[in-house]
This record gives sequence, C-alpha cells and structure tokens, in this order.
Amino acid sequence: MVIRTVLGDIHPRELGVCDAHDHLFLRSERLPGRELDDAAAARAELEAFRAAGGAAVVQWTPHGMGRRPADLAALSRATGVHLVCATGLHQAPHVSPELLAGLRGRLAEVFVTELTEGIGTTGVRAGLIKVAGGFHTLDAHARWTMAAAAEAQHSTGAPIAVHLELGTGALDVLDLLCGELGVPGDRVILGHLNRFPDPVTQRQAAASGCWLAFDGPSRAHHATDWRTPAGVRALAEAGFGDRLLLGGDTVTAGARSVDGGPGMPYLLRRLRPRLAAELGTELVARILTEHPGRAFSADWA
Ligand SMILES: [Zn+2]
Repeated sequence: MVIRTVLGDIHPRELGVCDAHDHLFLRSERLPGRELDDAAAARAELEAFRAAGGAAVVQWTPHGMGRRPADLAALSRATGVHLVCATGLHQAPHVSPELLAGLRGRLAEVFVTELTEGIGTTGVRAGLIKVAGGFHTLDAHARWTMAAAAEAQHSTGAPIAVHLELGTGALDVLDLLCGELGVPGDRVILGHLNRFPDPVTQRQAAASGCWLAFDGPSRAHHATDWRTPAGVRALAEAGFGDRLLLGGDTVTAGARSVDGGPGMPYLLRRLRPRLAAELGTELVARILTEHPGRAFSADWA
C-alpha cells in the first residue's frame, strides 16, 4: 500500500503530518475572479504550513479546475512538502459545458489515465478521485461522475473523496458508491461533514467504514464550523475516532494565511490543540498522520 504523490509513490509512514483536504490551485466557472492561481502565494502558504509542523497536503481540486500539476510537482520539490493531487469531476456548474461534452462516454477512462499515466503530458499522476454530491440529493451528473469514479476505483484501487454539498447527502452517496457500485467503505472519504453536523447521520455514515473529513474554517460556513470539536468528540465516543480526517479547505486567496486568512497553518496552530482538548493529544496526532496514511494509500493497479 503506497500513497501516490505528485513526485511518485511513498510509503504511508513517510507522509507525516497531513492536511487531508486543501487546495493550492483552483479555478471554477462559478467563482470568476476568485481563482487560486498564484504559484508564489501557493509556495508561501506551503512554507507557512511546513513551518507550523506540516509535512503533506492532499489537493482536492479535480479535472478541469486549474490543478496545475507541473507547478504542484515543482512546489513539492521546492518546499519538501508531500503533495497528492486529484482526478475526478466536480458538479456541472464548476466546469465549462465544452469540457463536459468532451468527457461524455470516456470519464472513467480519463480518471484511470490520470491515476496511472499522468495528467496531460506532465507525467504527474493523481492519487485520488474527487467527485461531488448535491444538496440532500444526487442528480444525474452526480450519478454519472460517481459511476465513473467507482469504475476507476475498481481498476486502480484509488480512494474516492466526495464533496458533500453543505455537508448533506452522506447516506445517499454511500448507498450509491458502496451499495450499488460495490466500492469498499474504507475507499470512500466524505468531505465537509462539519457543514451539516447531524450526529446521528454522521454515526450512520461512519458505520459503513468510510472516512469522515472535517475541514475549514471558512467564512461561508462559520455558522457550523464551531460545532466541529463537539462533533468529532461525539464520533470518537461512539467508537469512530479511527475514521476521522482533518483539512483546511482553502478555496479563495483571502483564506490563505499569507493573504490574511487562517489558511493551512490554522489546522496545526489552533485546531489541533482545540481538538486535543476533546480527543486527547494521541488521537489527534493519529488523525493527522496515521489516518491520512491509510485513507490515501492504495494497492495501485
Ligand atoms: Zn475543497
């Protein structure tokens, strides 16, 4: 079992303290003028994360959204921080209609190529498949992308990371991916659970064996982000502490620490000690190292 980073495969023990959900580069049709596309700022943010004790960052930016794989490889080399990048496809409004049209009939094939051969001509391989659900539902686009993700998962072993819209739809996603499409529970990572902090739904999701990712903070989700400490504590007390992951999910320039936001260092500077007060230092250390090592490693085919 190895983790597929932008510079090659590594053993999970080499990963170190990991931000399990974040973005150094991101461009969306839905967020014009708010692109994350500054390599110098990305490098400064990574250096700030490393200075805070960080060693690895998993990028959840999927196909068609400005991943800049060659820049990710250069940044990893320059900073010494391990980077994992994603293939996969977000909700339809995030990408152009032309790009979507070009992916019809060959989506799983694109995912597999990016996981096994590389993205474009860069030779940089993706290490996870990112897809997205809708608000309390799964539309035809979500079903199409998840079916392709499951097919690519079966042929490569890659983990599937899921953007839950406002944290909702966890059980629908698990019914589809694990129930209908046969993806093992531990190959699924649900993101944004802090945005819909229903403890019963979260326990039901965790019982499937999937990974539960809590990410942020963010201005857009301030109304629910503060529930994270109680939420993760409830999951740990219910016996699901070994299913947890943490990330920063920096999606705009203003959220970066080097641009005046909390950014990636916040995860280690403030969230880590806050969660240690709920879960104990030892479990939080495992959530930041051992858990991402397991969640993102695969028996690559
Ligand atoms: Zn994200």
